[in-house]
Amino acid sequence: MELPLLLDQPAELIVVGGGPAGFIGAITAAEKGINPVVLLESTLRPLEKVRISGGGRCNVTNACWDFKDLVVNYPRGRNALLGPFSRFAPGDVVEWFSSRGVALKQESDGRMFPVTNKSSTIVDCLIRVARSLGVILIPKSRVLSINKSGSIFEVKSKDMENFFSKRVLLATGGHPSGRELALNLGHKIISAVPSLFTLKLDDNTLKKCSGIAIDKVCLTININGKLSQQIGRILLTHWGVSGPAILRLTSFAARLLHENNYKAKLSINWLPHLESSLLNESFQLFRYKYARRFIFNKSPFPNLPNKLWKILFKRVGGNDNQRWAYCSAKLQKDLIGVLTSSTYEVCGRGPFGEEFVTAGGVDLGEVNLSTMESRICSGLYFAGELMNIDGVTGGFNFQHCWTSGWLAGRSVAKDLNDFLD
Ligand SMILES: Cc1cc2nc3c(=O)[nH]c(=O)nc-3n(C[C@H](O)[C@H](O)[C@H](O)COP(=O)(O)OP(=O)(O)OC[C@H]3O[C@@H](n4cnc5c(N)ncnc54)[C@H](O)[C@@H]3O)c2cc1C
Repeated sequence: MELPLLLDQPAELIVVGGGPAGFIGAITAAEKGINPVVLLESTLRPLEKVRISGGGRCNVTNACWDFKDLVVNYPRGRNALLGPFSRFAPGDVVEWFSSRGVALKQESDGRMFPVTNKSSTIVDCLIRVARSLGVILIPKSRVLSINKSGSIFEVKSKDMENFFSKRVLLATGGHPSGRELALNLGHKIISAVPSLFTLKLDDNTLKKCSGIAIDKVCLTININGKLSQQIGRILLTHWGVSGPAILRLTSFAARLLHENNYKAKLSINWLPHLESSLLNESFQLFRYKYARRFIFNKSPFPNLPNKLWKILFKRVGGNDNQRWAYCSAKLQKDLIGVLTSSTYEVCGRGPFGEEFVTAGGVDLGEVNLSTMESRICSGLYFAGELMNIDGVTGGFNFQHCWTSGWLAGRSVAKDLNDFLD
């Protein structure tokens, strides 16, 4: 990226952070006539998280068209997002990219990606549009401090001159430096903890099933007596458990898990679609249908993999040479017990899932969520992950970045130009 000409006038808007929230904020303001917009990015390559997102495909948003359904995907920010999403929702994101030459497609689970299946399509689009509007992108320009004197912000960046403006949009994502900048400008920061991670289990037996995915299990996590539940797909790994349902569970329980040093009990119902009466009936049937078959040998449930069945069978002390005809009432009870509630000790966080985000950040109570302007410091705006907002996997994290960045850019422009909607 080429370096811009140095500014000989104060910027009308300084955006700190070249992620999706900062870019859409800068573009929206510039499209509404704000000039110059300066975007300061600490690294050499802006939009790096977009580039690596969604396994290189970028899960841009989710086809969740009703914003009341949309907000339930945000463990932090839920109700506060109703207003912002009523202004700029997934449908608007689809339209936004489409009118700038990028078509999105929907997958069966609702996730939306560029039709090219390449995150670079999104990165290129944002950079191209920003450039065409004259947004001044300055990479390798980490902002070290922001001071306000009267109505003017002085923004000091490493190795660069200082910048001045009446408006600053902070969009530094989960990076601690952004929270520090907000704190110094008088904002309350909700302590940051990781969200969307996998779980390490203190159990060696499940490791044998590493690589196996099961589409629908019911997970209940017990953290010091507080319970949280999710139903969905799980992936068994060599360290414990992963997959969308685990990421959703750790997202909702992120703070509790952190407070409890990532110790908890995880109970798994492997067959949540079968009630216990139905399971009892199934066992009666298996006794006749498979009378001469060894119980250990083959899972009688089509959606329960053999490897896992064998491990669960051993967990209740089953004998390899036992045939279905002789499955005792006790063994039936124990097997149903372990099938509907296998409990494991969680002993820590596993590696992050595909999409790791930070829970915590700028307290939403101090932000006007219809404009994204600070209630503490006028002229200061926020967007994206820096705020105490985070979603589960599925495109929800980018969605709130597009929404808050768009609202911030628009509010800045409205403040300066008072354009009509
Ligand atoms: C591996 C991975 C995959 C993901 N995949 C998806 C996905 O497919 N879909 C989805 O919805 N979400 C995904 N996410 C989450 C998503 O990437 C983030 O929620 C989103 O990028 C946050 O956007 P942001 O603009 O707020 O912050 P960021 O994208 O983090 O951008 C902030 C920018 O600010 C810069 N910065 C920080 N401090 C300073 C400073 N002091 N001065 C100047 N610049 C600074 C940073 O270098 C960075 O470029 C993924 C996350 C990860 C880690």
